Amino acid sequence: MDEPQSPPQRSHGRKTMRPTLVPRDLMEDAPELASVWKAQVITLLPEAFPGVLGLSLTGRALKDGLWQLETVPLRQFGEGKHRNVDDTPAGGGAGMVLRPDIMADAIDHARVRIAPMAPLIYLSPRGRPLTQKLAQQLAAGPGVTLICGRFEGLDQRVIDHYNIIEVSLGDFVLTGGEIAAQAMIDAIVRLLPGVLGNEASTEEESFSDGLLEHSQYTRPAIWRGMEIPPVLMSGHHGEIAKWRRAQSEDLTRDRRPDLWEAHQARRKTD
Ligand code: SAH
Repeated sequence: MDEPQSPPQRSHGRKTMRPTLVPRDLMEDAPELASVWKAQVITLLPEAFPGVLGLSLTGRALKDGLWQLETVPLRQFGEGKHRNVDDTPAGGGAGMVLRPDIMADAIDHARVRIAPMAPLIYLSPRGRPLTQKLAQQLAAGPGVTLICGRFEGLDQRVIDHYNIIEVSLGDFVLTGGEIAAQAMIDAIVRLLPGVLGNEASTEEESFSDGLLEHSQYTRPAIWRGMEIPPVLMSGHHGEIAKWRRAQSEDLTRDRRPDLWEAHQARRKTD
């Protein structure tokens, strides 16, 4: 193999990186890239990052400097020999609550390292649902600071003081915010210019026009006696588009009456 010893220089202000970087190096070696979309994550488990975000398309984009990831390890702001970050809930009850003073120190540390317009978001089951629309809005901004809870969550005063937006991954309870943060970052980063390349069109996907996506098929043409719908093999682009649209509408009506109603209402006002 005649691999070059030093990697080729890239233009466009991106940093040149060794092609062999292990995932955590992607974050630690990253220089500050002004104007590149940035995710900051305040977490007790910084080793969970980049996690799955360091792989495949999001990992490639991270390596290429199309976005940046920075963890803020909450433990570093903890108090005393044991770096305590939590305490028992006021009023009693099970579990522990993350202390507001410790979290505030982590937030203050993080916020001066990101554009002031970047929202401060706490992943929380009590939050507004994460939607494609929110992902699109956040992708259009400079970045985001995410707070991952653990135990029983955050002291309410820190949420109030910083006007933190709470966002939920869905109506279920996770052990911590890290998986939710990764899901959210993934949903945003894939919308950034250049991340998906030609591999997909985000415009035709589920939710982008308020409908679920049509079914997908690929070769073999017949599998276990089942064939691909003939229209898809017809080469008639108009017919294919019509079929897909009808399928999208049928699926949405059947599976997600809530989305269907909203879609109908929007059509009436358009
Ligand atoms: N006692 C809390 C749940 C704490 S779960 C309650 O009942 O509301 C611990 C942490 O996991 C939370 O602080 C939050 O950061 C994260 N988490 C749990 N479920 C989540 C969800 N559906 N969406 C986003 N984050 C979630």
